[in-house]
Amino acid sequence: MVGQVNVSDDVDSSSNERIFPLWYHPIYTNGIHPDARFPRDRYELLLERLTKSTVFSNMEIHTPRMIDKENLLLAHEKSYVDRFFNNQLTDKERKRIGLTPWTESMIERTLFLVGGAMEATHHAIMYGGITGNMAGGTHHAHREFGSGYCVFNDLAICALDAIEKQGIERVAILDLDVHQGDGTATILENEKKVVTISVHCEKNFPFRKASSDHDLVLPSEAADEEFLKAVRKALEICIDFQPNLVLFQAGVDGLKTDALGKLNVSRKGMRMRNQIVFDTMMESAIPLVVFMGGGYAKPIDHSLDAFFDLFADAVIWNNKWTNEKQCEG
Ligand SMILES: [Zn+2]
Repeated sequence: MVGQVNVSDDVDSSSNERIFPLWYHPIYTNGIHPDARFPRDRYELLLERLTKSTVFSNMEIHTPRMIDKENLLLAHEKSYVDRFFNNQLTDKERKRIGLTPWTESMIERTLFLVGGAMEATHHAIMYGGITGNMAGGTHHAHREFGSGYCVFNDLAICALDAIEKQGIERVAILDLDVHQGDGTATILENEKKVVTISVHCEKNFPFRKASSDHDLVLPSEAADEEFLKAVRKALEICIDFQPNLVLFQAGVDGLKTDALGKLNVSRKGMRMRNQIVFDTMMESAIPLVVFMGGGYAKPIDHSLDAFFDLFADAVIWNNKWTNEKQCEG
C-alpha cells in the first residue's frame, strides 16, 4: 500500500504495486520570466513537497522530450506553429497568451510541456491506470492563437494523436478547471470520436464562451455540494460515451482561496472531486491522464495543497487499477 517503501530497484512483475508516473521538467518553472504574473514557482514547490512525502516511494518522475512540430499540427494551424517556432509571435499575440515578459525559453518550455503530456498519454494507453504531467491542461489555446496562459492545446493534441495514431476509438476530455475549456471545445467541435465536457463558473474567463459537447455551468460562489453534483453529472456523461481513454483537466482554481476562481470550493471538496474521478475511472478500467490545470491562490500555498492532494490521491488510486489487459504482452 501507499507509504511503504520499495526495498528494491528491480522490477518485480509479481508485485501488485503500481508506480504512478509523472512527467516534469525544471523548465516548467524556469522557462517563464520571473516577473511574469503567472505563479511559475508552483511547479518547483510542488515537486519539492511530493519528493518529501510518503507517497513519493510509489511515484516516478519522468523527464519529457520536446514535442515535434508534426504533432502540434494535429490541432494547430501551420502558420501559427511556424511563427511560434521562429519566435515571431506579435506582441499582441504574446499579450493574449499572457506569460509576459516573453522570453525565448518560452519556446522550449512549451515544447517540453506538450511533450510531457503526450508521453503521459502514451504511457496510459500502453499500461493503463493513472499517469500525469505536472503542468499543462492548456485548454484556452485555439487552433490559430494562444490565450489565457496557454500556447498550444495539449488536451486536443493528445486526444487527436490517440485517435489518429494510437488506435484509440473514443476519448473523453473531462475539464473540471473553474474556467471553460473553450479552445478544446472549438478545436474538437467536429470530432465525433472525442467528447468534450466542461464544468466551469459562468461569470469567469473566457467571457465569450465556446460550446463544448457538454457544458455544466455553475453560478459564482457555488460551493462544494453544487460543484460535486455537477462533477457527478459530468462523470455520468463521460461514462455514457464509453471512452477508451480519459484526459482530465484537473485545475484547482475553483478553490475559494483562488484569485481567479469565483467558486467557493473547499480543499476537502476539491479532494473529493478528484477521488470521485479516480474511483469512477479505475472501477470502469479506463486509463486516465491528469493534466494539472489552473491554480492561482495568493499566497500560492492553498493551490499547492490542492495539487499535492491531487497527485497523492493519483498514486493511491493508480494502485486500484485491475484491468487484466495490463498483463498482456
Ligand atoms: Zn483555470
